[in-house]
Amino acid sequence: MVLEMKDLCVDFTGMRGKVRALRNVSLSIEKGEVLGVVGESGSGKSVTALSILGLLGSNANISTGEISYLGQNLLTLGPKEMQSLRGKKIGMVFQEPMTALHPTMKVGNQLAEVIKRHRSVTKRQAYKLAVEALKEVHIHDPELVAKKYPFELSGGMRQRIVIALAMSAPPDLLIADEPTTALDVTIQKEILQLIKELNHKRGTSVLLITHDLGVVSNVCDRVMVMYAGEVVEEGKTEEVLNAPSHPYTEALLHALPDLADPGEPLKAIPGEVPDLQNRPAGCAFASRCPKAMDICGISVPALEPVSNNRSAACWLRRDIR
Ligand code: SF4
Ligand code: MG
Repeated sequence: MVLEMKDLCVDFTGMRGKVRALRNVSLSIEKGEVLGVVGESGSGKSVTALSILGLLGSNANISTGEISYLGQNLLTLGPKEMQSLRGKKIGMVFQEPMTALHPTMKVGNQLAEVIKRHRSVTKRQAYKLAVEALKEVHIHDPELVAKKYPFELSGGMRQRIVIALAMSAPPDLLIADEPTTALDVTIQKEILQLIKELNHKRGTSVLLITHDLGVVSNVCDRVMVMYAGEVVEEGKTEEVLNAPSHPYTEALLHALPDLADPGEPLKAIPGEVPDLQNRPAGCAFASRCPKAMDICGISVPALEPVSNNRSAACWLRRDIR
């Protein structure tokens, strides 16, 4: 197992008091596996990623749970050890590539510097490897691009460079948080394909965060659906998307634009994500769930296996079993 998170609870302290952002979140990623984490904004996807990376702010607190990475307990590591783990053993790609790039340094020099930090090579060799890394992320004319500043390049090119940077150590795990959200549709596809290709070629495990089930179906081996800081369904991508066990997963699937009817606008899921500060009793999805029953407003359904390799947190599934 590359990464294992068990029963993680994260609280944020803000002006309005304490809010539980993650509730008993568990996940695991095996070597070479791509796990998709999907849900609307505010579902806890990014908080899950930041917890692994040790990048939760000072107003956050991990109250219970475990995170182990290649057998090492991450929650016992100090800031320095976490910093060396990030970038070297865990690569990161975020939505906005500019946050990961040095604005006043040429692309080739940035890459070479990172490569030199991770490997015992000369400056010259590092630069050569940097150009090769650009080629590997399918940048045409890498020699020319290496001499450019980030602001001279398009968003898609910048994100390719961020991926090259993230993969340079090379890491055992790549965490990509909405890596294509800021890009236009054709570029999105290319970037996702690139991530999948690197996963195949290098055997790097990937945690891919997205709000788009279409992305999940193309790239992920397994998917975890989050709602209001909890995991509501988890299983093999194909199985989950073909026959969702949780009404929220079903609603996300219905919100996908109809491929047979282009021009149809994206459907929103009626209702709103509950305010985590005033979390309702029972199932957090109840106010939006077309299948809600009396018990749903009273008692929280636990995440439990509904079949082989498949779990869901819904009272409906408990009746079926
Ligand atoms: Fe809907 Fe009830 Fe299942 Fe929640 S537990 S998703 S309200 S049926
Ligand atoms: Mg997010």
